[in-house]
Amino acid sequence: MRGFHGGDAEGPPWYTTPMKLILVTRQAEAPDVESFVFRAEEPVAWKAGQFFHYVLHHEPTDDRGSDRWFTVAAAPSERTPIITTRSAGEKGSSFKKALFAMKPGDAIEVSACEGDFTFDEGSPDARHVFIAGGIGITPFRAILKDLDDHNATPRITLIYANRDANAAYREELEKFAAKNPHMEIVYVIAPDRIDVPKIASIAGDLKEPIFYVSGPEPMVEDLGSALSAAGVPAAHLKQDWFPGYPAE
Ligand SMILES: Cc1cc2nc3c(=O)[nH]c(=O)nc-3n(C[C@H](O)[C@H](O)[C@H](O)COP(=O)(O)OP(=O)(O)OC[C@H]3O[C@@H](n4cnc5c(N)ncnc54)[C@H](O)[C@@H]3O)c2cc1C
Repeated sequence: MRGFHGGDAEGPPWYTTPMKLILVTRQAEAPDVESFVFRAEEPVAWKAGQFFHYVLHHEPTDDRGSDRWFTVAAAPSERTPIITTRSAGEKGSSFKKALFAMKPGDAIEVSACEGDFTFDEGSPDARHVFIAGGIGITPFRAILKDLDDHNATPRITLIYANRDANAAYREELEKFAAKNPHMEIVYVIAPDRIDVPKIASIAGDLKEPIFYVSGPEPMVEDLGSALSAAGVPAAHLKQDWFPGYPAE
């Protein structure tokens, strides 16, 4: 296997010579949300919850440039890296327009794998609260698929906020929950919003669970500060910030 590793013992976390990923297929996940499924030129490794750095050459390129970070929405067992992302249509960046113009057989470059937003099962009694804002569901999809692959059934509450009930990966997430008697999903659909009182009403004692928060940067920032102020210890809070999206 070529030395492209997710910071594990087998190799360096950064890989400086870009590798091509070839688009195999695209699938709709929700209105304006699609998954792009790739075949790597050579085997690649990552940990569920990590992200890749992508370069998509296109012209003309707007001032946001030709590179982005995207979570690998696939579990390592799937072997096919997946980007799941939202299109802003005509208002979108030149990068997103080029991505949504890709056809099977087209290539994108990937040059690094990083991230510590990975799942630590901890003790058998440990409780985990996953909080996803919209497209911030991607690392949770990878982690939950990975746990399902290993028949692991940790105690997980997924709080999933979305602009409407047609949320990406909903059907699949419900299948995972059906197989894990210790997993529940709570949807928070706009105009309802996730805030600390709501989290406390779902999760109970805020000092006990390990919180994982992923989504648009302003949402993750605000919720992280509010959870800390409410007494969540720093060691119980993991965050994954997606820049480039406003708060939902
Ligand atoms: C660790 C990490 C993981 C990530 N994982 C994911 C992921 O799994 N999925 C995902 O979708 N994103 C992910 N992101 C975010 C991703 O990298 C992009 O920032 C995000 O998708 C927005 O893309 P975009 O900048 O191309 O904007 P677009 O999606 O095209 O647009 C987003 C918003 O910005 C506005 N906008 C677009 N262009 C401009 C402009 N030129 N000037 C001002 N406003 C503009 C649009 O109107 C829209 O409201 C991740 C980021 C990080 C750092």
